[in-house]
Amino acid sequence: MTKRKTQASESLDDLERMLTRLQLTAIRDQLDTLLDQAARAELTLREALTMLCSAEVARKDERRIQMGLSIAKFPCVRTLESFEYEAQPSIDPKQIRELATSRWVANGDAVLLLGPPGVGKTHLAVALGREAITRGYMTLFVSATSLVTQLVRAHNEGRLDERLQHFAKPRLLIVDELGYLPFEPNAAHLFFQLVSRRYERGAMLVTSNRSVAEWGGVFGDAVVATAILDRLLHHSHILTIRGDSYRLKSKRKAGVVKDGAVLAAAGN
Ligand code: ADP
Ligand code: MG
Repeated sequence: MTKRKTQASESLDDLERMLTRLQLTAIRDQLDTLLDQAARAELTLREALTMLCSAEVARKDERRIQMGLSIAKFPCVRTLESFEYEAQPSIDPKQIRELATSRWVANGDAVLLLGPPGVGKTHLAVALGREAITRGYMTLFVSATSLVTQLVRAHNEGRLDERLQHFAKPRLLIVDELGYLPFEPNAAHLFFQLVSRRYERGAMLVTSNRSVAEWGGVFGDAVVATAILDRLLHHSHILTIRGDSYRLKSKRKAGVVKDGAVLAAAGN
């Protein structure tokens, strides 16, 4: 009896070792619970194996998504579930649901989210980025200012190619806040090089407070702006968001803001 018990615990150790070696860590860590569940539910071997594998796949998916989110460097946590469509009637929920499938990412299309400050452009960009990551597409988020600063510096230091490669690699590149600051001379051309490299290979999502017609001014060079737009617009989905800032709207509800003017007493 004692001997059989020892054998049993030895084989359990063996099992744990093998599960570790096979990197089936979810099964290993929850082994007793999972086996109890299988026994209680009187599962067949095949059903039990399916249950164990599901637990492992769920953990691996979770890890992959967490890793993808940390690589993406989102500035904040925003999801489609937390987006209130009623607050933004100029957005068609159907169009967002279609974009949430990430088919556009698979196709290497561009999405332009245009509109004034506070209407949810960054929120949607981050949320759509999350959707892409859960579907296995490597995603990177960068502000337009940081992107351009990095490209200009790399250019000056003779390692532009490496930086372009860095931004060309992800399946989805999100460039936030294009147009808040005008580009410095030369920057427009560097941005053009990036857009060309990604063209028809990787998807881009660009948010901007300027309409496409104003991009010539943003880039400071109408010819380069046209070349950039030519590529971005070729396979593109343009969402123009109208309306009031969500931030101001919620403050207005609280009585801090009247008719778009922030009351002095609010201190901001
Ligand atoms: P933008 O990038 O267009 O300037 P943001 O996406 O940063 O605007 O939105 C400002 C704030 O308001 C964020 O905290 C965002 O989560 C929130 N917000 C904007 N629109 C909505 C919405 N329709 N539903 C829920 N939250 C929203
Ligand atoms: Mg924003």
